[in-house]
Amino acid sequence: MVALRKYSAPQLSASPLGGIFPMTEAEFNLKLDRFKSNSRSLQIFGILIVVINVLLTIYFSFFFAVHANRHQVLFVGLFLFLYYILTIGGFIIHVRRYVSQNAPKCPNCKKPLTMMQQPQVIQNRSCPFCRETILEKPNNKNAA
Ligand SMILES: [Zn+2]
Repeated sequence: MVALRKYSAPQLSASPLGGIFPMTEAEFNLKLDRFKSNSRSLQIFGILIVVINVLLTIYFSFFFAVHANRHQVLFVGLFLFLYYILTIGGFIIHVRRYVSQNAPKCPNCKKPLTMMQQPQVIQNRSCPFCRETILEKPNNKNAA
């Protein structure tokens, strides 16, 4: 939450339109780098969820299921299934919300532009969703 608040403060105020767009390729990359490093704790949390879920699955299938009776296996299996849905589903919802609030956005369609769209945005200088031109023409390649 602290990292989230820190990011939303306008730190690229030197560029026009409140530091949103139009921007240069260097600015876009800088914003994405900042977004990436701010979401590091979220990545670690995601890896942790996967590791815990895998360990629980291994424990359940190789140890618990061997020694428990049918009703216990059914009950704990159902519980684990719900647990997976809640943790993974909750995490996906949280990540989507985080991305839509913190990633650089297209000024035209407001869709978040992340690392997945980065190559397309830089190559075409336009938004991959609405095709609007969003990056300034680079007038000095050494500036990046
Ligand atoms: Zn767009």
